[in-house]
Amino acid sequence: MSEAQYTTKKEIAKRVKALKQEITFLESIHTGCGSCDAFDGRGCKRAGGVEPPPEVKLSGCPEWKWDEVPF
Ligand code: SF4
Repeated sequence: MSEAQYTTKKEIAKRVKALKQEITFLESIHTGCGSCDAFDGRGCKRAGGVEPPPEVKLSGCPEWKWDEVPF
């Protein structure tokens, strides 16, 4: 068995709380084209400026990469 990182209930509870906060944050990130670093407001720079279809705009594609802009 690996060496324990958390040896007290308090440490475990603190870690669980931090992980839950991170999961909430990650789940709040919208992964559509609008938040992708390749989106220029109309088209996709990775696709030569072609406008993605509505369903792709909404949910993004596998090449989605977050621009880290929070809005
Ligand atoms: S999610 Fe995909 S299609 Fe949309 S802008 Fe990013 S790379 Fe282009």
